[in-house]
Amino acid sequence: MEIDANRRKVVAPGYHAPEELTTISGDRGLDHEEKLIFEIGRDGVTGVDFPEVQLSGARLGGQQRKTAIGLPGLSEPEVIRHYVRLSRMNYAIDAGLYPLGSCTMKHNPRLNEKMARLPGFGDLHPLAPRATTQGALALISQLMNWLTVLTGMPAVAMSPKAGAHGELCGLLAIRAAIAARGENRPRILVPESAHGTNPATAAFAGFTVDEVPAKPNGHVDAQALKAKLGPDVAAIMLTNPNTCGLFEGEVVEIAKAVHEAGAYFYCDGANFNAIAGRVRPGDLGIDAMHINLHKTFSTPHGGGGPGAGPVVLSAALAPFAPLPLLVADKDGFKLIEDRDELRLFSELGGAKPFGRMSAFHGQMGMFVRALAYMLSHGRDGVRQASEDAVLSANYILASLKDVMSAPFGDGPCMHEALFDDTFLEGTGVTTLDFAKAMIDEGYHPMTMYFPLVVHGAMLIEPTESESKASLDAFIHVLREMALEAKAGRKARFEGAPRLAPRRRLDETAAARKPILRWKRAELPQAAE
Ligand SMILES: *Cc1c(COP(=O)(O)O)cnc(C)c1O
Repeated sequence: MEIDANRRKVVAPGYHAPEELTTISGDRGLDHEEKLIFEIGRDGVTGVDFPEVQLSGARLGGQQRKTAIGLPGLSEPEVIRHYVRLSRMNYAIDAGLYPLGSCTMKHNPRLNEKMARLPGFGDLHPLAPRATTQGALALISQLMNWLTVLTGMPAVAMSPKAGAHGELCGLLAIRAAIAARGENRPRILVPESAHGTNPATAAFAGFTVDEVPAKPNGHVDAQALKAKLGPDVAAIMLTNPNTCGLFEGEVVEIAKAVHEAGAYFYCDGANFNAIAGRVRPGDLGIDAMHINLHKTFSTPHGGGGPGAGPVVLSAALAPFAPLPLLVADKDGFKLIEDRDELRLFSELGGAKPFGRMSAFHGQMGMFVRALAYMLSHGRDGVRQASEDAVLSANYILASLKDVMSAPFGDGPCMHEALFDDTFLEGTGVTTLDFAKAMIDEGYHPMTMYFPLVVHGAMLIEPTESESKASLDAFIHVLREMALEAKAGRKARFEGAPRLAPRRRLDETAAARKPILRWKRAELPQAAE
């Protein structure tokens, strides 16, 4: 693989003279270009000295390897440089503001990390005997208590691994509850502004998805939703605050209508960071809601994991919660893993678990981090975090809506500010160009083209952990960029980013034709 000199082209300072310089080395400043580890490795080099092993082929029963396995050979400093250079091509919340809407990229306190690494938690094995895991089970129990108190819901299933997995857990509980009533309800109502995981989960759980339109003000059309309710509707899936960053004010009325129709109310709780400690979803009539611990309760996420998506359940759905169930008896805490064990616990007589969501009982590392966050903030602190997140988003909305366009900017927003591309009309600059140009200014782009209900969406979620100075710097940059786009300085946006380790990627090809495996030409290849 050759380094394409084009990808290291550098723009001279000053955007109005975009004369490009190319470095000879491919490096730029103190940021280094980096090849794949397989390309820099050499045969016969290693970072450690092992004693020579004298083993005859006969002693290995003829099983010895006959060809090299093609692992890269590097010295220790080479390995360290390789990974440090790669890490500098990445972006993280620890490096700067990360305004991805809907994702809640908040600071991950180091205290959480320290707690999660305590050997009793970090080295825990899921099959360790009960007598050795009492502390961990007590921690899970305490976290369950926090989640049920904060949401005003009587039960919580801890095993789902992420938000989307929690949605599946909630819908499977709903399906079991409907089956227990001897009914057949194949339809689920999902607003058109919903996150893609909502209709995907409903379809995956075997339901048909029926879309509910949004009103011009960004709220779900409650009249249209009610009109769609009927004896074949199993549930609605509603996000609140919704994906436009607005609180669904008619939620209580919607819940009442849903229950009158014999259906259940699933709430996508990904936006809990806006209301935690202030609003209890149980008071709104919600039957099931996942909580993305990795968003609201600050565990590191992005790049695919790990996450945790506990699901709180109403009294109507609690009996159907999946195994395992955490209980306490005279010997302390215990996990009930199957239905036979369940029979021995008479006080759980009403429990009819629908099955299980995963082999074991959850993401211990995430549980420790989330509880550390809760305990270090306290309930008032959690509430303060939500209020500050909402304040930050409103500050951004108010500071940018005169130069950008905010489709629902007349009133306040919740924890994220939504803009559309009306302000770019006639400039030749698209939402994608605008977002990519932010990278040249040191900012990760906001969420783009989601939610789908507004054109060219830009969804900015600052979170509570940014200072006012940090928000002001961000606002300053976005204001300048918006004015430049309107002034016709298209060149700055076209083809951005120019200063990132990689220029603009073909995102469609990256998603549709990913190259997941490097191949060395001279080695015979295993079948794909
Ligand atoms: C993040 C998110 C999800 C999915 O959660 P994961 O933990 O990524 O599976 C669902 N809905 C909304 C609104 C989200 O922001």
